[in-house]
Amino acid sequence: MLLDEALDRIAEVPDFPEPGVLFRDLTPLLADPAAFAATVDALAAGLPEDTGLLAAVEARGFLLAAAIGYSRGIGVVPVRKPGKLPAVADRIEYELEYGSAVLELPAGLVAAGDRVTVVDDVLATGGTAAAAVGLLERAGARVDGVTVVLELAALGGRALLGSRPVRALRVL
Ligand code: 5GP
Repeated sequence: MLLDEALDRIAEVPDFPEPGVLFRDLTPLLADPAAFAATVDALAAGLPEDTGLLAAVEARGFLLAAAIGYSRGIGVVPVRKPGKLPAVADRIEYELEYGSAVLELPAGLVAAGDRVTVVDDVLATGGTAAAAVGLLERAGARVDGVTVVLELAALGGRALLGSRPVRALRVL
């Protein structure tokens, strides 16, 4: 399947999770094996050659990073919401449009000097990806960039990521 056709499986859901928000729902893409394969192949092909680890952002990043990691022979580290990890190396609280959120990095998996790529489904305001990058860089890792299926450019997420490369299969 062509990548464009695969990405066209992404559904638009008005007023979710709150009124006025147009949510991009990747579940139809993931449920279609040809679309899932085309998407994972494209994400895997776009990774920098020498990335040695994928940091998967909970929860939809897990689905993508696991498949990319398997196909490229790269390990996956989950970056998780609070209270899920048995041992935590570090945590970052970051601002959302309403309120705040926390992400945690597991203990003992990311070492100084590791080359890591962050994987998630959607880059919106960039707060989530920037928090994941912050955790990795505080652990001494070198972040090779942020890999997503969809970038919502109007929300300006790249600005929070400085010079770190963003690789998106589709920019809206
Ligand atoms: P940000 O922190 O960049 O504003 O939001 C990105 C995070 O929220 C990602 O973890 C992503 O999964 C989720 N997110 C934000 N907007 C959307 C959306 O329209 N569709 C999906 N699937 N996830 C979204």
